[in-house]
Amino acid sequence: MKIVIYGLGYKGREFIRIVYEILKEIEIVAVTDTYVQAMDSLIYDNTLYIKPTQIKDYEYDYIIVTPENYYCEIRNSLVEYGVDYRKIRSLNEFELNRKKFQCNICGNEIFAWNYIGEDYKIFHNKDIAGAGRRRGGCPVCGSSDRARFVYYVIENFTKLLKESNCNVLHFAPENAILKKLRSMYGEQYISADIMPGRADVVADITSLQFNDEQFEYIICNHVMEHVYEEKKAFSEIRRCLRKGGILIFTAPICWTQETYEDDIVTTADERIRCYGQEDHVRLYGKDIVGRIEKFGFDVDLLYCNKMKIKDKIQKFGFLQDDSVLLCKRNN
Ligand SMILES: [Zn+2]
Repeated sequence: MKIVIYGLGYKGREFIRIVYEILKEIEIVAVTDTYVQAMDSLIYDNTLYIKPTQIKDYEYDYIIVTPENYYCEIRNSLVEYGVDYRKIRSLNEFELNRKKFQCNICGNEIFAWNYIGEDYKIFHNKDIAGAGRRRGGCPVCGSSDRARFVYYVIENFTKLLKESNCNVLHFAPENAILKKLRSMYGEQYISADIMPGRADVVADITSLQFNDEQFEYIICNHVMEHVYEEKKAFSEIRRCLRKGGILIFTAPICWTQETYEDDIVTTADERIRCYGQEDHVRLYGKDIVGRIEKFGFDVDLLYCNKMKIKDKIQKFGFLQDDSVLLCKRNN
Protein backbone atom coordinates (compact mmCIF):
# COMPACT_ATOMS: atom_id res chain seq x y z
CA MET A 1 0.00 0.00 0.00
CA LYS A 2 1.12 3.50 -0.67
CA ILE A 3 -0.28 6.43 1.27
CA VAL A 4 0.22 10.13 1.20
CA ILE A 5 0.32 11.87 4.55
CA TYR A 6 -0.57 15.51 4.31
CA GLY A 7 0.91 17.76 6.99
CA LEU A 8 3.97 17.16 9.11
CA GLY A 9 3.07 18.83 12.36
CA TYR A 10 3.34 16.83 15.54
CA LYS A 11 0.31 14.72 14.61
CA GLY A 12 1.53 14.01 11.11
CA ARG A 13 4.96 12.94 12.32
CA GLU A 14 3.47 10.76 15.05
CA PHE A 15 1.13 9.20 12.55
CA ILE A 16 3.97 8.34 10.19
CA ARG A 17 5.93 6.78 13.03
CA ILE A 18 3.01 4.65 14.17
CA VAL A 19 2.09 3.56 10.66
CA TYR A 20 5.64 2.39 10.01
CA GLU A 21 5.68 0.47 13.26
CA ILE A 22 2.41 -1.29 12.62
CA LEU A 23 2.50 -1.79 8.87
CA LYS A 24 5.79 -3.05 7.58
CA GLU A 25 4.78 -3.18 3.93
CA ILE A 26 3.94 0.41 3.35
CA GLU A 27 5.26 3.25 1.29
CA ILE A 28 4.70 6.72 2.59
CA VAL A 29 4.84 10.01 0.76
CA ALA A 30 4.75 12.96 3.12
CA VAL A 31 3.41 16.29 1.99
CA THR A 32 4.41 19.53 3.58
CA ASP A 33 4.26 23.20 2.77
CA THR A 34 7.18 23.99 4.97
CA TYR A 35 10.15 22.08 3.71
CA VAL A 36 12.38 23.04 6.62
CA GLN A 37 10.10 21.35 9.09
CA ALA A 38 10.11 18.24 6.96
CA MET A 39 13.89 18.12 6.98
CA ASP A 40 13.85 18.24 10.77
CA SER A 41 11.61 15.26 10.94
CA LEU A 42 13.48 13.06 8.49
CA ILE A 43 13.38 10.14 10.83
CA TYR A 44 12.61 7.63 8.14
CA ASP A 45 14.92 7.43 5.15
CA ASN A 46 12.33 5.75 3.02
CA THR A 47 9.79 8.55 3.31
CA LEU A 48 9.58 10.80 0.30
CA TYR A 49 8.90 14.47 1.06
CA ILE A 50 7.02 16.53 -1.50
CA LYS A 51 5.08 19.77 -1.79
CA PRO A 52 1.27 19.85 -2.22
CA THR A 53 1.57 20.83 -5.87
CA GLN A 54 3.54 17.66 -6.61
CA ILE A 55 0.81 15.25 -5.40
CA LYS A 56 -0.64 14.89 -8.87
CA ASP A 57 2.62 13.31 -10.03
CA TYR A 58 2.24 10.35 -7.65
CA GLU A 59 0.19 7.17 -7.49
CA TYR A 60 -1.27 6.32 -4.07
CA ASP A 61 -4.13 4.55 -2.33
CA TYR A 62 -5.07 7.24 0.16
CA ILE A 63 -4.28 10.75 1.19
CA ILE A 64 -4.54 11.25 4.93
CA VAL A 65 -4.96 14.84 6.04
CA THR A 66 -3.42 15.28 9.48
CA PRO A 67 -4.23 18.90 10.45
CA GLU A 68 -7.78 18.16 11.63
CA ASN A 69 -8.78 21.79 12.06
CA TYR A 70 -8.08 22.52 8.40
CA TYR A 71 -9.43 19.30 6.99
CA CYS A 72 -12.18 20.91 4.87
CA GLU A 73 -9.95 23.61 3.39
CA ILE A 74 -7.19 21.14 2.57
CA ARG A 75 -9.67 18.65 1.12
CA ASN A 76 -11.14 21.33 -1.14
CA SER A 77 -7.75 22.47 -2.35
CA LEU A 78 -6.72 18.85 -3.04
CA VAL A 79 -9.83 18.33 -5.14
CA GLU A 80 -8.88 21.48 -7.03
CA TYR A 81 -5.46 19.94 -7.69
CA GLY A 82 -7.31 17.06 -9.34
CA VAL A 83 -7.22 14.57 -6.46
CA ASP A 84 -10.03 11.99 -6.38
CA TYR A 85 -12.07 13.02 -3.32
CA ARG A 86 -12.77 9.33 -2.47
CA LYS A 87 -9.11 8.89 -1.66
CA ILE A 88 -9.00 11.70 0.87
CA ARG A 89 -9.28 10.69 4.51
CA SER A 90 -9.13 12.64 7.74
CA LEU A 91 -6.94 11.53 10.60
CA ASN A 92 -10.08 11.23 12.71
CA GLU A 93 -11.14 8.15 10.82
CA PHE A 94 -8.21 6.17 12.09
CA GLU A 95 -8.32 4.26 15.31
CA LEU A 96 -4.61 5.04 15.64
CA ASN A 97 -5.40 8.64 16.12
CA ARG A 98 -7.48 8.17 19.22
CA LYS A 99 -5.55 9.80 22.02
CA LYS A 100 -5.33 7.14 24.61
CA PHE A 101 -2.62 8.42 26.86
CA GLN A 102 -1.42 11.53 28.61
CA CYS A 103 1.96 12.49 29.97
CA ASN A 104 1.47 13.57 33.58
CA ILE A 105 4.67 15.62 33.47
CA CYS A 106 4.32 17.76 30.34
CA GLY A 107 0.54 17.36 30.18
CA ASN A 108 0.42 16.45 26.48
CA GLU A 109 -2.01 13.90 25.12
CA ILE A 110 -0.20 11.03 23.44
CA PHE A 111 -1.15 8.63 20.63
CA ALA A 112 1.49 6.08 21.49
CA TRP A 113 4.57 6.00 23.69
CA ASN A 114 8.03 5.78 22.15
CA TYR A 115 10.15 2.70 22.55
CA ILE A 116 12.75 2.95 25.31
CA GLY A 117 15.07 0.70 27.31
CA GLU A 118 17.38 -2.21 26.69
CA ASP A 119 16.38 -5.81 26.53
CA TYR A 120 18.69 -7.99 28.58
CA LYS A 121 17.52 -11.49 29.40
CA ILE A 122 17.80 -11.00 33.13
CA PHE A 123 14.98 -8.46 33.09
CA HIS A 124 12.61 -11.26 32.15
CA ASN A 125 14.27 -14.07 34.08
CA LYS A 126 14.26 -12.13 37.31
CA ASP A 127 11.25 -9.95 36.72
CA ILE A 128 13.08 -6.74 37.42
CA ALA A 129 10.70 -3.81 37.54
CA GLY A 130 11.44 -0.71 35.54
CA ALA A 131 13.68 -2.27 32.94
CA GLY A 132 13.59 -3.87 29.52
CA ARG A 133 12.61 -2.73 26.04
CA ARG A 134 9.11 -1.31 26.09
CA ARG A 135 6.82 1.47 24.93
CA GLY A 136 7.31 4.03 27.66
CA GLY A 137 8.80 7.30 26.38
CA CYS A 138 6.82 10.51 26.04
CA PRO A 139 7.33 11.69 22.44
CA VAL A 140 6.95 15.32 23.56
CA CYS A 141 9.04 15.80 26.72
CA GLY A 142 11.04 12.58 26.57
CA SER A 143 9.99 11.40 30.03
CA SER A 144 10.19 7.67 30.70
CA ASP A 145 7.43 5.62 32.32
CA ARG A 146 9.57 5.47 35.44
CA ALA A 147 10.05 9.24 35.55
CA ARG A 148 6.31 9.77 35.17
CA PHE A 149 5.58 7.48 38.10
CA VAL A 150 8.19 9.23 40.24
CA TYR A 151 6.57 12.53 39.32
CA TYR A 152 3.14 11.15 40.17
CA VAL A 153 4.38 10.13 43.61
CA ILE A 154 6.07 13.50 44.12
CA GLU A 155 2.87 15.27 43.17
CA ASN A 156 0.50 13.17 45.25
CA PHE A 157 2.51 11.86 48.18
CA THR A 158 4.95 14.65 49.00
CA LYS A 159 4.63 18.39 49.50
CA LEU A 160 7.50 19.14 47.12
CA LEU A 161 5.35 20.75 44.43
CA LYS A 162 3.26 22.63 46.99
CA GLU A 163 5.99 24.28 48.99
CA SER A 164 7.27 27.65 47.95
CA ASN A 165 10.56 27.63 49.79
CA CYS A 166 12.46 24.43 49.44
CA ASN A 167 16.00 23.24 48.83
CA VAL A 168 16.17 20.26 46.51
CA LEU A 169 19.08 18.09 45.40
CA HIS A 170 18.50 15.85 42.40
CA PHE A 171 21.03 13.19 41.39
CA ALA A 172 21.31 12.08 37.76
CA PRO A 173 18.29 14.25 36.96
CA GLU A 174 15.52 13.13 34.67
CA ASN A 175 15.20 16.01 32.25
CA ALA A 176 11.42 16.35 32.34
CA ILE A 177 11.35 16.43 36.17
CA LEU A 178 14.34 18.76 36.26
CA LYS A 179 12.55 21.33 34.11
CA LYS A 180 9.53 21.34 36.40
CA LEU A 181 11.52 21.71 39.60
CA ARG A 182 13.89 24.26 38.11
CA SER A 183 10.99 26.45 37.08
CA MET A 184 9.59 26.26 40.62
CA TYR A 185 12.69 26.58 42.73
CA GLY A 186 15.32 28.27 40.54
CA GLU A 187 18.66 28.30 42.31
CA GLN A 188 17.29 26.41 45.29
CA TYR A 189 17.14 23.39 43.05
CA ILE A 190 20.52 21.75 42.40
CA SER A 191 21.05 18.93 39.97
CA ALA A 192 24.12 16.75 40.44
CA ASP A 193 25.93 14.01 38.58
CA ILE A 194 29.22 12.23 38.95
CA MET A 195 29.94 12.85 35.26
CA PRO A 196 30.95 16.43 34.32
CA GLY A 197 28.57 18.31 32.05
CA ARG A 198 25.44 16.38 32.89
CA ALA A 199 24.10 18.55 35.72
CA ASP A 200 24.63 21.79 37.65
CA VAL A 201 27.39 20.35 39.78
CA VAL A 202 29.67 17.35 39.73
CA ALA A 203 29.12 15.41 42.93
CA ASP A 204 30.26 12.09 44.34
CA ILE A 205 27.33 10.67 46.26
CA THR A 206 29.71 9.02 48.74
CA SER A 207 31.40 12.34 49.55
CA LEU A 208 29.13 15.33 49.06
CA GLN A 209 30.24 18.95 49.05
CA PHE A 210 26.99 20.19 50.63
CA ASN A 211 26.33 21.40 54.17
CA ASP A 212 24.70 19.35 56.90
CA GLU A 213 20.92 19.53 56.61
CA GLN A 214 21.04 21.69 53.50
CA PHE A 215 18.10 20.06 51.70
CA GLU A 216 14.44 19.38 52.37
CA TYR A 217 14.31 16.89 49.51
CA ILE A 218 16.85 14.71 47.77
CA ILE A 219 15.88 12.80 44.64
CA CYS A 220 17.93 9.77 43.71
CA ASN A 221 16.56 7.52 41.00
CA HIS A 222 18.42 4.58 39.55
CA VAL A 223 21.75 5.73 40.94
CA MET A 224 22.44 3.56 43.98
CA GLU A 225 22.69 0.32 42.01
CA HIS A 226 25.83 1.86 40.46
CA VAL A 227 27.38 2.86 43.79
CA TYR A 228 29.76 0.39 45.39
CA GLU A 229 29.94 2.16 48.74
CA GLU A 230 26.24 2.10 49.47
CA LYS A 231 26.48 2.72 53.21
CA LYS A 232 28.68 5.77 52.73
CA ALA A 233 26.29 7.13 50.10
CA PHE A 234 23.20 6.78 52.30
CA SER A 235 25.05 8.35 55.22
CA GLU A 236 26.00 11.34 53.03
CA ILE A 237 22.42 11.71 51.80
CA ARG A 238 21.20 11.55 55.38
CA ARG A 239 23.74 14.14 56.52
CA CYS A 240 22.68 16.61 53.80
CA LEU A 241 18.96 16.12 54.47
CA ARG A 242 17.19 18.18 57.09
CA LYS A 243 15.66 16.14 59.96
CA GLY A 244 12.33 14.97 58.61
CA GLY A 245 13.54 15.63 55.07
CA ILE A 246 12.61 13.21 52.34
CA LEU A 247 14.73 11.09 50.06
CA ILE A 248 12.79 10.12 46.94
CA PHE A 249 14.40 6.87 45.88
CA THR A 250 14.08 4.29 43.14
CA ALA A 251 16.26 1.47 41.85
CA PRO A 252 15.77 -1.70 39.83
CA ILE A 253 14.24 -4.21 42.24
CA CYS A 254 13.79 -7.96 41.91
CA TRP A 255 10.92 -8.86 44.24
CA THR A 256 11.52 -12.58 44.13
CA GLN A 257 14.90 -12.55 45.87
CA GLU A 258 16.93 -10.74 48.53
CA THR A 259 19.33 -8.00 47.50
CA TYR A 260 22.25 -9.61 45.72
CA GLU A 261 25.80 -8.29 45.59
CA ASP A 262 29.02 -10.20 45.47
CA ASP A 263 32.63 -9.02 45.19
CA ILE A 264 33.43 -11.86 42.82
CA VAL A 265 31.10 -10.38 40.20
CA THR A 266 33.45 -8.00 38.43
CA THR A 267 33.33 -8.38 34.65
CA ALA A 268 30.77 -6.66 32.43
CA ASP A 269 29.30 -10.00 31.34
CA GLU A 270 28.90 -11.25 34.89
CA ARG A 271 27.34 -8.00 35.99
CA ILE A 272 24.80 -8.16 33.18
CA ARG A 273 24.03 -11.74 34.13
CA CYS A 274 23.71 -11.10 37.89
CA TYR A 275 22.57 -7.49 38.16
CA GLY A 276 21.07 -6.67 34.76
CA GLN A 277 23.54 -4.06 33.56
CA GLU A 278 27.27 -3.93 33.01
CA ASP A 279 27.80 -1.00 35.36
CA HIS A 280 25.55 -2.15 38.20
CA VAL A 281 27.15 -3.40 41.40
CA ARG A 282 24.09 -4.97 43.05
CA LEU A 283 20.54 -5.99 42.39
CA TYR A 284 18.12 -4.79 45.04
CA GLY A 285 15.56 -7.28 46.29
CA LYS A 286 12.52 -7.61 48.50
CA ASP A 287 14.52 -6.60 51.58
CA ILE A 288 15.01 -3.08 50.23
CA VAL A 289 12.76 -1.31 52.75
CA GLY A 290 14.52 -2.77 55.78
CA ARG A 291 17.86 -2.23 54.11
CA ILE A 292 17.31 1.52 53.74
CA GLU A 293 15.71 1.82 57.20
CA LYS A 294 18.99 0.57 58.66
CA PHE A 295 20.65 3.68 57.23
CA GLY A 296 18.45 5.92 59.40
CA PHE A 297 15.26 6.47 57.42
CA ASP A 298 11.57 5.67 57.85
CA VAL A 299 10.62 4.15 54.54
CA ASP A 300 7.27 4.26 52.82
CA LEU A 301 7.09 1.91 49.83
CA LEU A 302 4.69 3.02 47.10
CA TYR A 303 4.13 0.04 44.86
CA CYS A 304 2.27 1.05 41.73
CA ASN A 305 0.10 -2.03 41.39
CA LYS A 306 -1.16 -1.84 44.97
CA MET A 307 -2.15 1.81 44.87
CA LYS A 308 -5.60 1.41 43.30
CA ILE A 309 -4.74 3.69 40.41
CA LYS A 310 -5.46 1.30 37.55
CA ASP A 311 -6.92 4.07 35.38
CA LYS A 312 -3.83 6.19 35.89
CA ILE A 313 -1.42 3.34 35.19
CA GLN A 314 -3.10 3.01 31.81
CA LYS A 315 -3.52 6.69 31.06
CA PHE A 316 -0.12 7.92 32.19
CA GLY A 317 1.72 4.82 30.99
CA PHE A 318 3.25 3.70 34.31
CA LEU A 319 4.87 0.32 34.76
CA GLN A 320 2.56 -1.82 36.87
CA ASP A 321 5.35 -3.24 38.98
CA ASP A 322 7.16 0.07 39.44
CA SER A 323 7.78 1.42 42.92
CA VAL A 324 9.06 4.54 44.63
CA LEU A 325 10.45 4.65 48.14
CA LEU A 326 9.86 7.75 50.20
CA CYS A 327 12.58 7.70 52.84
CA LYS A 328 12.25 10.17 55.68
CA ARG A 329 15.30 11.08 57.73
CA ASN A 330 14.16 9.95 61.14
CA ASN A 331 16.10 12.11 63.59
ZN1 LIG B 1 5.69 14.40 28.36
